[in-house]
Amino acid sequence: METLVVEGLRVRTPLLTVDKPRLVRDLARSVRVRRQSVGPELAQEYDLVVDATGFARALLPPCRSDLVLSTLQCRVTSGARQTSLLEPTVEGHVVSGFGYSWVFPLGEGQYHVGACTVGPADLDGLVEQIIRGLADESRLVRHCSCRGAVRVSSPYYATPFSTVPATEDETHRLVIGVGESIGAVGPFTGEGIHPSMECARLLAGHLDDPQGYTRAVLSRFGWMRSERETIDRLLTPDGAANLGLGDRWRFYLNARRSGIHLPFAEAVRGTGRLSHWVDGKKR
Ligand SMILES: Cc1cc2nc3c(=O)[nH]c(=O)nc-3n(C[C@H](O)[C@H](O)[C@H](O)COP(=O)(O)OP(=O)(O)OC[C@H]3O[C@@H](n4cnc5c(N)ncnc54)[C@H](O)[C@@H]3O)c2cc1C
Repeated sequence: METLVVEGLRVRTPLLTVDKPRLVRDLARSVRVRRQSVGPELAQEYDLVVDATGFARALLPPCRSDLVLSTLQCRVTSGARQTSLLEPTVEGHVVSGFGYSWVFPLGEGQYHVGACTVGPADLDGLVEQIIRGLADESRLVRHCSCRGAVRVSSPYYATPFSTVPATEDETHRLVIGVGESIGAVGPFTGEGIHPSMECARLLAGHLDDPQGYTRAVLSRFGWMRSERETIDRLLTPDGAANLGLGDRWRFYLNARRSGIHLPFAEAVRGTGRLSHWVDGKKR
């Protein structure tokens, strides 16, 4: 994606679309994988169990304060001759509370069109509206749609990262979480692909040291705690009125972390298109 339209501002970006199932298939090519659904009983059989079950967090106890982004995404093909007709876009003001909509290219004229929100929202209606808007410019063919959920609690609020299950023979067992299971996801955007891989690298360096691993994750992803706390403020009854300059600054930093250079003034000003992301045009 050379450019991305962020809330009406066209910015240059180094972002990539990742085919995550294909990436996982590639990574798993050199190892023998036995696919099965697992539950806590598995912890009885192995010294070390890694909970990499993403949103399910199937093997660890609940997070101390979970926060969930609900998603709805539709895959479409542009029937237009110029497949570049749809511009990669994200818009925050269209979702009340906290969330955003997106149009991301998948290549060969295909796109993901979706929306996400923390809290109740009519995602079906919203995605339908976006697709209708796009269809004005380009003939679109719909393929499929799916609902999902992303843990955006941040690692700080997704502790504990590990647990030592009680075993009958009193031997030492350890279940340790990685990736989205322990909230290694950017709360503003729900981006978890790169952070979950970074988290896996931290785990590889601390396999015998759960406490060191917890410290390393909290330190590496400290910015996620700040973003989560901004969302908490945004979701209070007064909403955006509770946000300070620091919260607005975090939106700017978030974009810069992904290599998106938003105009600074737009990012922090009280008026201006980008501030609609947090203040809302229609609220
Ligand atoms: C609609 C949508 C759009 C997204 N868009 C982006 C994006 O643009 N960029 C980005 O960076 N991130 C995005 N994310 C988030 C990102 O996909 C995840 O945060 C990231 O993939 C998490 O990686 P992970 O390896 O921790 O877990 P996952 O990739 O979720 O893998 C968990 C695996 O565990 C398996 N599993 C679950 N329970 C069990 C069980 N009991 N037994 C056995 N296996 C189990 C699951 O089937 C899955 O294969 C999106 C998420 C959604 C839902």
